[in-house]
Amino acid sequence: MRGPQRIAIDGPAGAGKSTIGEQLARKLGYLYIDTGAMYRALTWLALQEQVDINDGPALGRLALSSEIVISRPQVADGRQYTVTLGGRDITWDIRSAPVTRAVSPVSIHPDVRTVIRARQRAMAQRGRVVMVGRDIGAVVLPDAELKIYLIASLEERARRRYAELVAQLGEHNPALPSMQQVMSDIQRRDSIDHDNMQPAADAIIVDTDNLNIAQVLEIICRYVEDKS
Ligand code: C5P
Repeated sequence: MRGPQRIAIDGPAGAGKSTIGEQLARKLGYLYIDTGAMYRALTWLALQEQVDINDGPALGRLALSSEIVISRPQVADGRQYTVTLGGRDITWDIRSAPVTRAVSPVSIHPDVRTVIRARQRAMAQRGRVVMVGRDIGAVVLPDAELKIYLIASLEERARRRYAELVAQLGEHNPALPSMQQVMSDIQRRDSIDHDNMQPAADAIIVDTDNLNIAQVLEIICRYVEDKS
């Protein structure tokens, strides 16, 4: 089948990008790359090495020297992919609350973005990809053949993220944040991410508020077929 070589899926936290991106990639047999995981891996490293998250040049150097690898999952524990840093498996570490809190301030630095974006472009050379993030269609892969931008209301995104956390942590886990906390975390990330989170002029905007995963996938698959 001919078809788009590169599919960019962007949008804010909780819009459904990673669920949709992973399922779409699996259905099409494409490589799935979640670019948020790269920013999270760098953030995890910065916290580990106690690098100041406000120091852009230091974080840029750290990014340059970091060996972040995203590969197909080797462990069947619910992961979508495996993330290693210098050979160490940090797939679940990068989902921790401290990383989630620090990732947007880390990602905002141009020195960081230059390094990470170059790596993302190199990864997209590896074959047919579904690349998920914030700035993929607009900046990282402006020539992507298909660009989707997923949106949903703040309330709906918080509800989805909360349900994910309940599934991950269990309903009675003391580490489970409140719904209000989840919502304000998303709001805070939205506002820091804002400048790096714009749809490309040629992106197709899909409002997922009243759609389930299968319906969103169906819509995107129709666009994939149109491009084939
Ligand atoms: O997608 P996820 O929520 O895991 O992304 C974590 C953070 O990484 C985002 O809140 C954003 O600050 C940053 N990010 C980014 N550009 C991307 C992907 C993620 O700035 N392409």
